[in-house]
Amino acid sequence: MENGSKQIRSKSLTGGTKERSRASTASRRTSGEDAPEIPKRQDPSKVVWPQKLLLASPRGFCAGVRRAIDALNRLVEAHPRQTIYCFHQIVHNTYVVSEFESKGVKFVNSLEEVPENSIIVFSSHGVSPQVRQQAEKKKLKTIDATCPFVTKTHLEVKKYASEGDKIIYIGQSHHDEAVGATGEAPESTVIVQTPEEIEALEISPSQKVALVTQTTLSFDETEGLRQALKSKYPHLIEPSHSDICMATQNRQNGVKELVQSGAKVVIVLGSANSSNSNKLKKVAEKMGVKAVLIDEISELDLSLIESVECVGLTAGASLPENKITKALEWFKDHGTKTIEEILVADESSISLPTVDTHQPSKA
Ligand code: SF4
Repeated sequence: MENGSKQIRSKSLTGGTKERSRASTASRRTSGEDAPEIPKRQDPSKVVWPQKLLLASPRGFCAGVRRAIDALNRLVEAHPRQTIYCFHQIVHNTYVVSEFESKGVKFVNSLEEVPENSIIVFSSHGVSPQVRQQAEKKKLKTIDATCPFVTKTHLEVKKYASEGDKIIYIGQSHHDEAVGATGEAPESTVIVQTPEEIEALEISPSQKVALVTQTTLSFDETEGLRQALKSKYPHLIEPSHSDICMATQNRQNGVKELVQSGAKVVIVLGSANSSNSNKLKKVAEKMGVKAVLIDEISELDLSLIESVECVGLTAGASLPENKITKALEWFKDHGTKTIEEILVADESSISLPTVDTHQPSKA
């Protein structure tokens, strides 16, 4: 998807589908300067409303998020009189989490908070072996909702560490996913996030070095870091496929296409702690347009869309589709005439990798 031409399909939500071939968005990217500051909110009655909205597809729930939510839902239904615990937010979305809380699920950041013999779900972001051991000691019944794409990175860390490699993990050091994956081999792993951190790495030239990446990062940013690592460690060992998952890449390509198709502002619906949602905003800004990440459309600063002819809309991988539906209705109600869906990839046939080797106990 990153090189050469690709087929983009756009569909008017009032009818009609057209296909066009477009050169790689990577080759058309703008200078990468930061987008200008977003001005303060204005009086809504003074807003000249956008006439056109471009809606990215795919957007919102990915297969890994669906899988995790389904697993937790099934548990809640199967154990109506028992408190179900979940280690960390099941997915990083405010609404999904509060809906489960209303069904009695307790989200915890430490197993100290969980009584012995309870049922606990490990979130889609995965956990370290230390957490698994602690759960075992407390005789917790564990259900593993880790996304298989995340599990793949755990297996890579374990494999490289067992072969004596030093692992450079590109990721956000405090993110649940990074903590879980690097926890597979803490002594063998170093987390980096910036070119400066790569510059400062002091690893002996004789040491074998392997690369593992958090699944939800910006493909373009990570590529820059990967190149920096390759020039510093020419024999860098890498997984055969990028660790950045397909859902993340598709949503980032969708944002690029929104901008290529004329969106001057990109609205990303998602929660502030959602890594992939933050990256969608960043991708838009890198392309030189304004972008905002908000939990729902009612939070939008209207000055952002004032006199903007065409806006783009997308959603992070953990946002429920009903929030998008609500946003579309809101735009239509206020005067948006044309809503066009831009399809960059069809995820209907994507299946999750079968790498789930952590054996959960039965609840
Ligand atoms: S964004 Fe990717 S890694 Fe995260 S849950 Fe979805 S498919 Fe899995």
